[in-house]
Amino acid sequence: MERGIIAIDGPAGSGKSTVGKLLAKRLGYLYMDTGAMYRALAWKALSLGIPLDDEEALTHLAERVHITLSGDPDAVRVAIDGQDVTDAIRAPEISRAASIIAAILGVRRAIVAKQREMGRRGRVVLEGRDTGTVVFPDADVKFFLDARLEVRARRRFEQERARGREVSFEEILRETEERDRRDAERSASPLRQAEDAIYLDSSELSVEQVVERMLEIIRQRMPSASSRERESK
Ligand code: C5P
Repeated sequence: MERGIIAIDGPAGSGKSTVGKLLAKRLGYLYMDTGAMYRALAWKALSLGIPLDDEEALTHLAERVHITLSGDPDAVRVAIDGQDVTDAIRAPEISRAASIIAAILGVRRAIVAKQREMGRRGRVVLEGRDTGTVVFPDADVKFFLDARLEVRARRRFEQERARGREVSFEEILRETEERDRRDAERSASPLRQAEDAIYLDSSELSVEQVVERMLEIIRQRMPSASSRERESK
């Protein structure tokens, strides 16, 4: 029985969030940005002054916080222990801190448990690094979205500029490379493609093209999702 769990994994800047939101909207599914949960936890750790190498304190924090993702896919609000951190968690120092704490096994266990609980009813698009390998290895459809490093850094650079931040492309390129390395080399759930995931490279594709390709595959694999899609149009 298909539950309607769609997992999209891939490196920073591959377009997961953009296409994940659009897919969730088209299908009438819940959209779960799993990276936002690591970011919210990193924000809380920094605001409490917990050192990023204190694995015990960070694991304990991850176990006791309450993280919520609410609202429509294109306007998700992120809160931790009742405090709205939607904008704050997009700061560069949070990107860095999130990728550091996400390497801690105890932190991952606690966050993954929350993600399973939030997604267990199905009809959900999850997006992150391990959603098809660890969080829901039995997802109905898995995608691994990738793009060349320069393309991903360029997207991040443009996002930062749109937010009014003065950053150099070289700086963003270096940060993206550093985050890629940390995500791929950590021992706890490193970023990797699930064997049964469909690989898509978005370097030369528009957002619409990626979404259309994904929908085609979803329609083939999950006929019930496409009938709901038609109803919701
Ligand atoms: O996707 P986003 O850039 O918001 O994720 C922030 C960080 O959280 C990533 O660099 C990664 O280290 C971590 N993350 C993770 N597993 C996920 C999602 C994000 O380790 N499923």
